Amino acid sequence: MQNETLRQELTPVGLADFTPRIDPSATGYQEGTLLDKYGRRISYVRLSITDRCDFRCTYCMAEEMTFLPREAVMSLEECLRVASVFVGLGVTKLRITGGEPLVRKDAMWLIERLGALPGLENLVLTTNGSQLDRFAVPLRAAGVKRINISLDTLNPERFRKITRIGDLTKVLRGIEAARQAGFRRTKLNAVMMRGTNDDEFVDLVSFAINNELDISFIEEMPLGEIHGRSNTYISSEETREMLSRHFELIPSTEDSGGPARYWRIPGSESRVGFISPHSHNFCDSCNRVRITAKGELYPCLGQNDAANLLPALRASNDDVALRQAIIDSMGIKPYGHDFTQQMDTPQVVRFMSMTGG
Ligand code: SAM
Ligand code: SF4
Repeated sequence: MQNETLRQELTPVGLADFTPRIDPSATGYQEGTLLDKYGRRISYVRLSITDRCDFRCTYCMAEEMTFLPREAVMSLEECLRVASVFVGLGVTKLRITGGEPLVRKDAMWLIERLGALPGLENLVLTTNGSQLDRFAVPLRAAGVKRINISLDTLNPERFRKITRIGDLTKVLRGIEAARQAGFRRTKLNAVMMRGTNDDEFVDLVSFAINNELDISFIEEMPLGEIHGRSNTYISSEETREMLSRHFELIPSTEDSGGPARYWRIPGSESRVGFISPHSHNFCDSCNRVRITAKGELYPCLGQNDAANLLPALRASNDDVALRQAIIDSMGIKPYGHDFTQQMDTPQVVRFMSMTGG
């Protein structure tokens, strides 16, 4: 559906009349469902539990990063409160992300409690995989349903160049640890970069097939002060065409609840997905918001507007103000983003590691 058509259909009362609200008629939820002003139902939260990371991927961070001081970061108890209030408002899927979530001290304390939250159907995690050989078993025991692991290359030297400090062997060990812990359909995420890893896309798909993994290719997004990305940008379409010379790709109608569109390969369980924020904008069906480690709620990855939940969170131990702040934030969820206009001069000043991918 064209964006403009959808906008008109979903806003019969006009944007000026919008009052942030929940939909009390929705069934199956405890208190109602969060709706934004375009009528989109918010059922998915991505929660960044740290802005720190043990890698410095070139597309995600600057080489010299200043991380948040500890007191500016939500405590694990605060993260749990935020998640519980969202679940009370009809959110059924929560992705733990970062930075690298598994470098947060006592991350498992939080994850175990999230796994036990009544009403939270789908607890998932995005990680760079470096710590998974230690954490795969407890993550599975805590009720994490699925893991996404970032992997842009299978070449150790190239891996070191992209991540600046990462060790590919540790990540490959982590992928194997996840399989042994019983995780199935683990998904690899590969950012497509011309001249850096575009000669490896076939190998990455073969690796996914051989290890019973899914894989998504991501169009690089202009987040943070990293200029000149249009030189290395590759569209999903170009990669899909190239891959279809090596693999039979059958379009799939499956919906993972995220922005990826999937293709299947006959004879394999692996799915090949494409996340195309430029070429196939997914704003129409956006069902999510993001919470940063310092308690800001970003209703859109590609915009700068945010609601700060920290004052409400710290004002009182009951969740009344926090709940209201979350409901009110629905009023600032924009219709969408346009990354393509901003490729070389990002308008979104924060790095992906701040917002959580
Ligand atoms: N550290 C974890 C990891 O790497 O999976 C979780 C956080 S990371 C920010 C989440 C995802 O964002 C990763 O898959 C990463 O490749 C992706 N990412 C980071 N910066 C990006 C950018 N500028 N464009 C597209 N994807 C990006
Ligand atoms: Fe760290 Fe993930 Fe960003 Fe890489 S993409 S620097 S692993 S947060």
